Amino acid sequence: MAGLGVWLAFIGVCFLNVSALLQRLEHPVKADGSLSLVVIGDWGRKGTYNQSEVSAQMGRVGAKLNIDFVISTGDNFYDDGLSGVDDPAFELSFSKIYTAKSLQKQWYSVLGNHDYRGDVEAQLNTILQKIDPRWICQRSFIVDTEIAEFFFVDTTPFVDKYFLKPKDHTYDWTGVLPRDKYLSKLLKDLEIALKDSTAKWKIVVGHHPVRSIGHHGDTQELIRHLLPILEANDVDMYINGHDHCLEHISSTSSQIQFLTSGGGSKAWKGDHLIKMGKMGQRFTMMDKYLQVWRFKKSIPKLFIMIFLAKFCKLLICPRGYVMCMPYNSLI
Ligand SMILES: [Zn+2]
Repeated sequence: MAGLGVWLAFIGVCFLNVSALLQRLEHPVKADGSLSLVVIGDWGRKGTYNQSEVSAQMGRVGAKLNIDFVISTGDNFYDDGLSGVDDPAFELSFSKIYTAKSLQKQWYSVLGNHDYRGDVEAQLNTILQKIDPRWICQRSFIVDTEIAEFFFVDTTPFVDKYFLKPKDHTYDWTGVLPRDKYLSKLLKDLEIALKDSTAKWKIVVGHHPVRSIGHHGDTQELIRHLLPILEANDVDMYINGHDHCLEHISSTSSQIQFLTSGGGSKAWKGDHLIKMGKMGQRFTMMDKYLQVWRFKKSIPKLFIMIFLAKFCKLLICPRGYVMCMPYNSLI
């Protein structure tokens, strides 16, 4: 069938079912069988630090691709999440920022470490949908489309330093403790869901990177505990935020494509320009960008990345590659 395809862009209506373990949301594809979406992370700054500029470009790209929904990779509200369900930051950083018509779709969000510094239950509370019906945020859940299945994973509780060396920050671990039990259940639930999945595309979304050569770098806890499960269950992509940049890393030792989308605001922060990664990769950050991904159901997975390479500007690196694209080059 011509026209079938998945279109993903960096940057709904849901029918709720309950899977045995992780909650499953179903999102229908378009009538022609295609699906388009935008991914963004690390954004909520009441419009400052380029958040509004990125939003404007998202709106334009969203319209161009007629997106179906948005994925947020977390760190939704800076610096300390939401203080409660009535925190004006929800509207000031979300509703009043992403105002383009094309972005009036469902937003599927995970929590980032900054969100854990606030009232986590507030951010997860469905009462927020009365203020803005686009908002769906859960700790870990599944969005099932006809073509691809998205597995959202709560990664902050994996990271030791937030527990062992929280510095001056206070984290809201309500619902997470005891930690070991929480993490083992999450990994088990995810493993079962991945095993059961028959989707052509299995895409896992979390806040922290598994692999990154950005400011924060790899997350060892995820390499140790999450990555083996992803590799054993034919996951195609892992998408994260946390590092304020866009990255695409591939590896000779893993079939998974590692994508960072954390450029929703303050993307120039820190070690910008060229940095040598641990493994010798060259890494370039730009201060204003958006990332666009396009997938076609009809072409084999093997060729997807070649298609991407043609579509986007790529920096070829010795052991993987990183992709950056200034957002004004899209239009
Ligand atoms: Zn973060």
